[in-house]
Amino acid sequence: MARYTGPVCRLCRREGMKLFLKGDRCYTGKCAIDRRQYAPGQHGQSRGKKPTEYGIQLREKQKARRFYGVMEGQFRSYFVEANRQKGMTGENLLRLLERRLDNVVYRLGFASSRPEARQLVRHGHFTVNGRRVDIPSYSLRVGEIVAVKEGSKSSPRIKEILQNLGTRPVPGWISLDVNAAAGTILAFPSREDVQLPIQEHLIVEKYSR
Ligand code: SF4
Repeated sequence: MARYTGPVCRLCRREGMKLFLKGDRCYTGKCAIDRRQYAPGQHGQSRGKKPTEYGIQLREKQKARRFYGVMEGQFRSYFVEANRQKGMTGENLLRLLERRLDNVVYRLGFASSRPEARQLVRHGHFTVNGRRVDIPSYSLRVGEIVAVKEGSKSSPRIKEILQNLGTRPVPGWISLDVNAAAGTILAFPSREDVQLPIQEHLIVEKYSR
């Protein structure tokens, strides 16, 4: 399963905004976006040309992809699926991305960032309806329960996470049971639930060219 392994702060600087890929560090003065507010690379500080319409659409797609840590091919597959579904393609796309297991693990507060959530899922620390699932892209359905695997509760990092569980707001489409270290999918997320600065219509326009 391919994933981006390069420097993640560079991705934030490229998009010109915090993508919150490094957990707690993102909220400190060490954040690269706060220290160097220009794009990475040799020409990062030059004014550059006015972006084209295509350039704007491309950046929006890249931003969404990077928020959720999805590679190009998989992102395109999500778009194809979103386009096939009834309703607004852009909203369907965000809904599909939100339903990923690694995103839900992050949203529930079981990880400090989406990349950490992905790693913890890959290491087999979570169950879905009582069965171990180590596929970060697993698409959750209404009624499914995501929980920390019993045997993982003694792992130092999981222990630390569980001590702080419930201190971060959880979106309304998921419910968190702090004592059971588990969350239930109550409904599919609406556009308002996503709360990420993504203009999904630009992504739809890009793929519809
Ligand atoms: Fe992005 Fe976090 Fe790095 Fe800041 S610290 S640039 S928000 S990944």
